[in-house]
Amino acid sequence: MSSIQAVFLDRDGVLNTHLPGRYVENTQQLVVLPGVAQAIRRLNNSGILTIVISNQQGIARGIMTRAALDIVTKELERRLYDEAGAHLDEINYCVHSRHDGCACRKPRPGMILDSLARHGMDAALTVFVGDSGTDIEAAAAAGVGSKALVLTGANRYYDASRFAVLPDFVFRDMNDLVDWVLEEHP
Ligand SMILES: [Mg+2]
Ligand SMILES: [Zn+2]
Repeated sequence: MSSIQAVFLDRDGVLNTHLPGRYVENTQQLVVLPGVAQAIRRLNNSGILTIVISNQQGIARGIMTRAALDIVTKELERRLYDEAGAHLDEINYCVHSRHDGCACRKPRPGMILDSLARHGMDAALTVFVGDSGTDIEAAAAAGVGSKALVLTGANRYYDASRFAVLPDFVFRDMNDLVDWVLEEHP
């Protein structure tokens, strides 16, 4: 059993392809990234919680409905399961707009803090993996022990000058992240 209690995951650009400037509005637009299902399954097998923390302000902006988001979520879960028997333990969305001033929209840490409290976890024993600067900022604000960037979404290479808060680790993809988690925290 790993000493890591949970891996928090951004969704777009980490689990499925990031659509620049757009939202995943339907299942046709949902493309699970290669190897992600297997990576999640490896975390499942190690007893590490997999918890999605995702901004989806397309809802507040009226670009997509909550029902459409729920259909995409169900399809994501189905594909992860079908491909590798993988599951997500919790999925948290902020559906507010950047103008709403909510506590949950990343870079604010609200969703992470709520999840930590819900599961009685120590933030220091968790990992956050994201593809953008706001992910790393939210993780830092929540006190997450390891802040990791994957280069499968908004950032295809690492340029530190683009980050207000630097990631602790940069990985090519989710499987490299999981290799590290399981090697460093067996
Ligand atoms: Mg993202
Ligand atoms: Zn929110």
